[in-house]
Amino acid sequence: MNKPKKPSPQIKRNEGRHQDKNERIKNFDEVALGFNLEEALIESSRCLNCKTRPCEKACPVNIKVPDFITHLYNEDIQSAVLKIYETSLFPAICGRVCPQENYCEAACVLKDRFGSVSIGRLERFVSDHARKNNMLKLPECEKENGFKVACVGSGPASLSVAAELRKKGYDITVFEALHEFGGVLRYGIPPFRLPREVVNFEIENLKKMGVKFIKNILIGKSVSLDDLRQDFDAVFVGSGAGLPSPLGVKGEDLIGVYSSNEFLTRVNLMKGYKFPDYDTPIYVGKRVVVVGGGNTAMDSARCAKRLGPENVTVLYRRTKAEMPARAEEVENAIEEGINFEFLTAPVELEGDENGRLKRVKCIRMELGEKDQSGRRKPVPIKGSEFYIDTDVIIAAIGQSPNPLIQQTTKIETNKWNCLVVNENGQTSIENVFAGGDVVRGGATVLLAMKDGKVAANAIDEYLKKKSEDRRQKTEGRKQKSDK
Ligand code: FAD
Repeated sequence: MNKPKKPSPQIKRNEGRHQDKNERIKNFDEVALGFNLEEALIESSRCLNCKTRPCEKACPVNIKVPDFITHLYNEDIQSAVLKIYETSLFPAICGRVCPQENYCEAACVLKDRFGSVSIGRLERFVSDHARKNNMLKLPECEKENGFKVACVGSGPASLSVAAELRKKGYDITVFEALHEFGGVLRYGIPPFRLPREVVNFEIENLKKMGVKFIKNILIGKSVSLDDLRQDFDAVFVGSGAGLPSPLGVKGEDLIGVYSSNEFLTRVNLMKGYKFPDYDTPIYVGKRVVVVGGGNTAMDSARCAKRLGPENVTVLYRRTKAEMPARAEEVENAIEEGINFEFLTAPVELEGDENGRLKRVKCIRMELGEKDQSGRRKPVPIKGSEFYIDTDVIIAAIGQSPNPLIQQTTKIETNKWNCLVVNENGQTSIENVFAGGDVVRGGATVLLAMKDGKVAANAIDEYLKKKSEDRRQKTEGRKQKSDK
């Protein structure tokens, strides 16, 4: 092929190929098909290699974007992938689910004139290519240093701690309440956005590096956090934010009302989408309503669509512009035929004589003054109530931290029940660190990984200092007794 000269920013930004919209709503295979080598090279030629590196600065883990793209352009994919791995642990995951439009791509200087470089898709291409062509070697692990660290939960925050500390020679055990590992990457985000082979690859690599994984163990119930502190030198809590927020309207106990958490867990983790091959029946009826505007709402609506109802409608109380979901997924949902009722909220759920959901009473909203989040607050419009007939409603309006550890351990929390940590991820208990959604409330995969990295460094420093203090004490005692 004739590779364009670099830089060629005027070439149209490539949005990547997608599975056909009419086909994909009948399967759970990956929707975004990514780039082939030729497409990746052309897209890489668009990068201006800016000296000021705005994309790198905007990335929460500061991936050296211009450098990896230059290696890719030079067809040195091995160097490109190593460059990404210098700061990011799971690029095949982040390339797929990171909201690049808010981070690196938002800062790209080409954004307004020609369209940002498709940085996320290039990251995905490089890491997929490296994985499929066995270009990735397991990182070297230092000699065992004798310290044991426990991670609670197996989402991206804990996986990042496990990877960082294992490389430094720590003995790591990850405890997971569910029967599979990966946290939201496994039970929340559907396989058509994040194929399971990508998650499996990362977890298998950690196992090969020597990280121990123990499933079906609920810390705070089967084993307390204090028990863990007895057996391990430090503990990292990465238990996420898996407690769904209820809609808070009458009728929530009707049959046909799901939390997004329950719905997505049934579909993705329990493989409800493969029923009857898997023993997880899942009822969607003919009409489905989803409430919310985030990734969880989009995933719920798109999973529901693939289970075959006549229609799926999303109710969101603000406008499309305020939706927190990844922009690409909103566009995918629209393409897949999901209806959107913006500036709309549910006020009551009505059932039939058998207690089955029948319809949802809604109200129209308008945007008022800005609230604390800086977004304009939705205000109900009096007298605008209307009904939507539905068999199922899925509430996807937010999640808060799983409360078990907080309830069973004396540890500082804030008013949202999130664990309070200092800038190093250390909680109010000396050898307990935390990060990810249990600290931030619902956030992103990349921020969870970033927290994990910060906490891993802090645990390393904390334990090295502890061991040095011990050594000095023993030395001191020895010197005294020698005198
Ligand atoms: P989690 O991923 O929630 O993992 C926590 C793990 O801890 C879980 O496996 C849980 O079972 C386990 N656990 C909890 N309590 C205990 C206990 N007591 N004992 C043992 N184990 C326990 N972010 C993006 O960046 N892009 C996206 O596209 C995106 N889409 C999303 C879609 C959905 C449906 C959801 C719910 C979230 C999405 N997010 C997305 C947010 C992102 O997934 C989270 O911010 C991220 O997974 C948080 O990582 P974590 O490690 O803190 O927690």
